[in-house]
Amino acid sequence: MSKSVSITGPWMLGAWGAPAIPQSWVVPRVPAPKLDYLEPAKVKKRPATMADLARPQEGRRGHDPVVWESSSARIVHSLTSDNPRWAEAPISICVLSSGRLRDLPVLTTTHQALARLGFTGDANLDTVAGITRSQLLALEDGALVLLDLTILLECWWPRHEDSPMHIASECATTLEDVAAAIVEEYIAYDGNRLDQRWVTWILRRFSWGMPGATLDEIGKEAGVTRERIRQVITRISQPAGSRVWPLPAVVSGAIKSLRDHDYLSVQDVLLDAGFVTDDDWTPEEITELLRWLGYSRAAQALEGHFENAEMAQRERRDQNAELIALIRAARSKIGVIRTDTVTGSDGALLDQASVQQLLPLTYSRVFTSGPWSLVSNDAPTSLENAAGRQLGLVQPLAVDELYEGLDRERRRRSAPPLPDPETTLDLLVQAGAIDLDVGTCTGPAVPTDSGTINAWLAALLQHADGHVLHKEVINRQAVRDRMNLTSLGVYISFSYAVRQCPTPGLYRLLGIEPSSEDIAHALAVAEATRIPSNVDWRVTSDAIEMAVTVGSNMLSMGSVTVPHALNQMWPSGGARVHCMCNRPFKAKVAKYADSALSNWSTLLTHLALDHDLREGTVLSAEIIDSNLRVVSVK
Ligand SMILES: [Zn+2]
Repeated sequence: MSKSVSITGPWMLGAWGAPAIPQSWVVPRVPAPKLDYLEPAKVKKRPATMADLARPQEGRRGHDPVVWESSSARIVHSLTSDNPRWAEAPISICVLSSGRLRDLPVLTTTHQALARLGFTGDANLDTVAGITRSQLLALEDGALVLLDLTILLECWWPRHEDSPMHIASECATTLEDVAAAIVEEYIAYDGNRLDQRWVTWILRRFSWGMPGATLDEIGKEAGVTRERIRQVITRISQPAGSRVWPLPAVVSGAIKSLRDHDYLSVQDVLLDAGFVTDDDWTPEEITELLRWLGYSRAAQALEGHFENAEMAQRERRDQNAELIALIRAARSKIGVIRTDTVTGSDGALLDQASVQQLLPLTYSRVFTSGPWSLVSNDAPTSLENAAGRQLGLVQPLAVDELYEGLDRERRRRSAPPLPDPETTLDLLVQAGAIDLDVGTCTGPAVPTDSGTINAWLAALLQHADGHVLHKEVINRQAVRDRMNLTSLGVYISFSYAVRQCPTPGLYRLLGIEPSSEDIAHALAVAEATRIPSNVDWRVTSDAIEMAVTVGSNMLSMGSVTVPHALNQMWPSGGARVHCMCNRPFKAKVAKYADSALSNWSTLLTHLALDHDLREGTVLSAEIIDSNLRVVSVK
């Protein structure tokens, strides 16, 4: 008892379950020759007939061109020796509609043989079907060509509208569509035993239209070993390239534009030529796709073209090494360059046009708006990242709010001024970092770098009631989370995530307009949780002893109010700080106005980080001459 073969999609020679010969070849009296690739039990039990070979062959697959060549020769020999007139008939008497030869996925061998007979891709299928068998058999590999063509005309063509590549050649608009179709095609050839997720995994393995993945990554996702993934992908890709598939217009268009250009960015060429692509296509990825589609000569030519372009580029790069170094030096830390202000080593301005011509040699990503360009090699610039991190917190985001965040990032990195808002936004749109709508923007989110003060601040405001906090509360949390207080102030004023509110002391998350209730609440929280600072002191025979309760204000401001008398006694040049752990300090605690001592921040930050100082902790110290020595922190 054998299971019935599930008939899946159009058949071609060698596909899983396909008949070994077309129905029309059955000549009942003729015994079938023994064929190397046939495994089914029924063939072993009794001598096979030609009728057996014309039935779907369950479980049989064989992609070995050498085996096929000898097998088809033996089949044809059996048929012709019994019936000499068999060879004089046309290939097929099936009625064909308006198909062309290029619509058939013929073996590369068949493709070459038909070309020798003078048939081009434009040839009508009716004409092809009218070729006599003997015409083909006279050619080298003629038997294989005959078998391939007849199976295609009789078993593939009647159901060709189900073929993924046929569908792609009618309506694919992107290379991604075509890549998915050819993978589906070879999965069907393999018997459709893999589900749809495999299409994605194979596409990712070749990095076709989606981010690439390693065998390990795919294996984890699929829940099988990397070796299993490797085996499957090898099995599926084994017949790839053996057939010449109908070439979708999007692929031929892409190849043509690539060959018309002398630079290397496949993505740029494709986009310029009006193609839509979702992913970066490298020269290697696109030539490999062409091989799968059966166009190995086109792939080779394209590869040569890329090599030449690369050599030419390297040559120009060598010739312009000095200018390129100047351009690199002129790029700001956030990734923009103003092309009309680049100066040569002699201090003279360089010609703007030549700077712009050299940009693509200097950087792999170049976006230009007026005199400004946004440039980088592969990775996004920090300008794009700053936009993406803001959009990761809030979107849609008002464009002026976004621009302010970009400018804060720019100042944090001490980069020269940004281009005007319109130009900056235009550059970001070109780079794909943002999409503009009326007055607002959206775009892909970039995760905040974990572990940075910036990310900590962003998370704090994101989780706060009304996304607004008093500076003291931020400081208090910073002490609790052991953040470095010295740089916190700088971060608050430069963070892309934070904006100052009109109410003094309040900070809000970007893109948020806190309500009056939110503001009142934030002020009340700061008030209710505030711990007052206090200074007790006495003078002994050789020292001033102090016990300072470190309150909220002192932690955030680095200064503390003291009695006028203590202020008067304070060393006039300030007191040099000594910690009990003997860490050296440059800072001196100094008099401030009549009744305050300032400049505690460095010491307090150290005590908070290394000696568990918290709000309300009592810091004991003694002042001898002009030295302030910390005695204890409790
Ligand atoms: Zn210390």
